[in-house]
Amino acid sequence: MINRYIIPAVLLIAAPVAITVAAESRSDKSVELIQKALALLESGNENAAQQAAMPAANAGGEQGARAWLIIATARYRLGELESAIEAYDLCRKTSSSKTIRDYAFDRALTVRKEIRTRLKPETGEIPQDAAKRLAKVEQVFHFASAPNIFVRARNPELARVIASRAQILLEKAWYGLGAEIKYPHQIRIFVHADRHEYAAAAPPSPDWSCATARVDNIDGKLIPRIDLTQLDENGQFDSRLLDRILPHELCHLAVSEYFGPDRCPLFLTEGLAMMAEKAGDPSRQILAGQSFMADDATGINDLVSQEMPLRKPELFYSLSYSLVEFLHSRMSSAQFKAFLNHIRTGCPFSHAVQRAMGISYEEGFIALLAETWKKHSMQQSALLQAVQQAVQSAGKPDKPDAGKP
Ligand SMILES: [Zn+2]
Repeated sequence: MINRYIIPAVLLIAAPVAITVAAESRSDKSVELIQKALALLESGNENAAQQAAMPAANAGGEQGARAWLIIATARYRLGELESAIEAYDLCRKTSSSKTIRDYAFDRALTVRKEIRTRLKPETGEIPQDAAKRLAKVEQVFHFASAPNIFVRARNPELARVIASRAQILLEKAWYGLGAEIKYPHQIRIFVHADRHEYAAAAPPSPDWSCATARVDNIDGKLIPRIDLTQLDENGQFDSRLLDRILPHELCHLAVSEYFGPDRCPLFLTEGLAMMAEKAGDPSRQILAGQSFMADDATGINDLVSQEMPLRKPELFYSLSYSLVEFLHSRMSSAQFKAFLNHIRTGCPFSHAVQRAMGISYEEGFIALLAETWKKHSMQQSALLQAVQQAVQSAGKPDKPDAGKP
């Protein structure tokens, strides 16, 4: 099938004759850059194509318009739809050729439509038809990339969606921790078709696991990697993939880079990763509160020093989420970042909280904190259970009739 995203060659070849010598030499240089950018684009090197075309685009004129067209196509292929539209608009404003202006206008319109019909990251809901499209598994691999992300998947749309979402999610997690420099690596994301394919490629993990994040050391170079699974056990597109699993695993990599490998306490890295998920799972808060009520919760000192979730892993995750969410809710964003930074520099948990909150050190602080957290957790749990019950009874078509079987 013809690739509909290839720029019609006629738009790029038909250059008007330059009228002055100065303009001519500038134009020659631009033509050279455009040819180079076009070759890079054809070989699938979108980032380099953009870079090569940018000076020609900035030089303006008819060649500038053509350069914007290449940039727009590269951005489109990288899944950067909004900025692709910007480039199409700039092409349209720069060109004096009606053919090019019409083409850029049409493309911008098509991409705008695509944004509207594509997955909407802000809602997290996947429309029925998109879920069907994303469940398709092709024999060949497809690739997509963003500045810090490289994706390989068996579905071209899924590869693009993951690349663009992952970049946004990574930056959110990275700067949310308090990082002040750019995230320094390119993360490789491998999307396996099903559990079987995942298990064969990913590091040994529990049976229920369908995603992992890890940092490979290849000849002294650190390469972060995420393995994901496209389909659930029913062969449907895994609806948790984009909104829960992807942000969770990306957050682990951001934490690992910010704190240093294996330097962040387990409760904190898991708590942060669960908080990064879109629409946190209420069952975690409910379970945490219930464990306090049943006097089964792990003590705060044990929880923050635990290195492996050996005893009741589900409870460990729930309590970790509950504690990190509690701390986050009681601190300003600057205080929370300061808390993370104190932990990062080796400060014990209790000291880190007190320093971040500007409280002078007190021996009994941790007991007080534990008590306040417990109350908060039980209240949250009760509230969420009440909401769940209300939603469930609202979802029933009619009030149950006591007389019916
Ligand atoms: Zn995790």
